[in-house]
Amino acid sequence: MKVGIYPGSFDPITNGHLDIIKRGAKVFDELIVGVLVNVDKKGLLEIEERVELIKKVTKDIPNVRVQSFTGLLVDCMKETKASVILKGLRAVSDFEYEFQMALMNNKLDPEVETVFMMTSAEYSYLSSSAVKQVAKFGGCIEGLVPDEVIPIVINKIKAK
Ligand code: ADP
Repeated sequence: MKVGIYPGSFDPITNGHLDIIKRGAKVFDELIVGVLVNVDKKGLLEIEERVELIKKVTKDIPNVRVQSFTGLLVDCMKETKASVILKGLRAVSDFEYEFQMALMNNKLDPEVETVFMMTSAEYSYLSSSAVKQVAKFGGCIEGLVPDEVIPIVINKIKAK
């Protein structure tokens, strides 16, 4: 059984992420969406909220599992039996960082492979930080994130 892991901060999940998850779920027997706990960076949403939202918007995809993880991705992969890292690639700007990460993870565990999936053109400009920026200044985030995510992001930003 081929288990893939799609790691990220998902703060919040966007339609670009969801597109990669849907397409990734067709490639792997099981796809784990791994929500990275970054101890150095406090995000907009709590980790549990991110996990809950991703679970909600992926509930109709039976081979997708969502969980948070701390520490090294390669250690989390051993625990979850995932052997392949799935990453989305937007522009050239993503490449340098992802290239470094892929090589580092392979150095840490030579059994681990990283595969890249090209963004769908309509989401190529989309990132969680761009969504937060737009929402912060009152812009419309419809179509950028799943509908369930919209009120949560807006309320969180208002509460800050
Ligand atoms: P963001 O950059 O939006 O804050 P994350 O750190 O949560 O996102 O990203 C997790 C993974 O999803 C990374 O591999 C990133 O390149 C990919 N990704 C993010 N947004 C998109 C998108 N619009 N299309 C394709 N891949 C994406």
